[in-house]
Formats: sequence, structure tokens, C-alpha cells
Amino acid sequence: MSNLAKRLIGLTGGIGTGKTTVADYLADRYALPVLDADIYAREAVDQGSQILSTIFQRYGNQVKSADGSLNRSALGEIIFNHPQEKQWLEQQIHPFVRDRFAQELQQLKSKIVVLSIPLLFEANLMALVTEIWVVSCDRSLQIRRLQQRNGLTPQQAATRIDSQMSLAQKVALADVVLTNNAGLAELYAQVDVALQS
Ligand code: ATP
Repeated sequence: MSNLAKRLIGLTGGIGTGKTTVADYLADRYALPVLDADIYAREAVDQGSQILSTIFQRYGNQVKSADGSLNRSALGEIIFNHPQEKQWLEQQIHPFVRDRFAQELQQLKSKIVVLSIPLLFEANLMALVTEIWVVSCDRSLQIRRLQQRNGLTPQQAATRIDSQMSLAQKVALADVVLTNNAGLAELYAQVDVALQS
């Protein structure tokens, strides 16, 4: 089946707003296939991959763990402090992620597929989907959920949130906005409506 006939839902939002919660609900309640960009991004730097050896060539042993795998926190430190290096790394990984989505979509028979892509806008992957759903919540709640789930201080949570494209910008580009400011039942009810529209 051609992708043109499919409904391809691009699920995105800010860090800790509830993307995974929505994706899990779509999979569990509606048995929809969920493709996850984070999994492909990890695959891109799997041991033995071409991209991983390119990364080692560029940064040397400082980003290599004792077992030869990628030292993610060392790499994270470099890219957090050097925007140009972040851009270089993304240029390696984003095309790989795009190709993996295309491959998987060709295999799937389902008329509706969910593509969970936290960096949908930043990675310019909008063309992969036919509609964009943004999960949003108030900043205070986002900070509280990140504190609880990741054990961050409010300041650390705020720094992570502010290092991303703003949620307001994402909301402005959405076809559907899911507002996750209350309980799960309220969130799921919005998903039910969005899916039926
Ligand atoms: P990340 O960007 O870090 O991957 P995410 O957007 O996928 O996060 P989730 O993991 O779904 O967000 O949610 C963040 C945390 O908040 C989780 O611990 C989740 O269980 C909790 N959470 C999400 N929505 C609600 C809700 N409506 N009520 C209570 N807890 C919630």
C-alpha cells in the first residue's frame, strides 16, 4: 500500500509532556503500530555502525567507553557546549532515522501508523507524516514531572526544557494539540477525539 493512503500521525511535544503516555495508549487501546525515532537514533550509533566510527574519528577516545561503545554523556557534554558539533552530529543521525522510518512504513499494512518523533520539527521530519499531534502541558507541571521521573532539581529541569525549541512554537505548528494538564483520563479522552476526527 502506498504511504499516501495512510494516516501517519507524527507525535511530538516537549520533554516530559506525555508523548510516551500517548503513544502507549494508542498502541494498547487501538492496537496501532508505533514507530519510535529514539530507537532509530540509538540504532544509528550501535556498536559497529558506520556512524559510530565517524563519531570516533572526529572526537577520539574521549567519547569511547572501555567496552568500545559510545560514551553518551561525554558526547552529550561536547554537543551541549558546542552548537556546531551538535549540528554536525544531527547531520549524521537524522538521515539514518528518516531512512529507517521509510523502511518500516513500507512493511506496515496498517492504515494508521503513529510515528513518535520528539524532535519532529528540529530534525525537519514533518514531511514523513500526514498530521502532527503535539502533547503540551503547563511549564510548572513539566518541571514537576521531570523532577519526579528523572530526579532532577527544578533548575536542571528548566535548563533541559529551555535547551529545546519552545513548546509554544510547537503548539503553533500542530494539527492537533493534546493538553496534558490533568489526569490520564482527560488526556486519553482527547486522544479518542483526535483519532476519530
Ligand atoms: P520524554 O520527552 O522525557 O521522553 P514524554 O513526553 O514521553 O517524556 P512521558 O514519559 O509520557 O513524557 O511522561 C512524563 C512523566 O509524567 C511520566 O512519568 C508519566 O508517567 C507522567 N505523566 C504523564 N502524563 C501524566 C498525567 N496526565 N498524569 C500523571 N502523570 C503523568
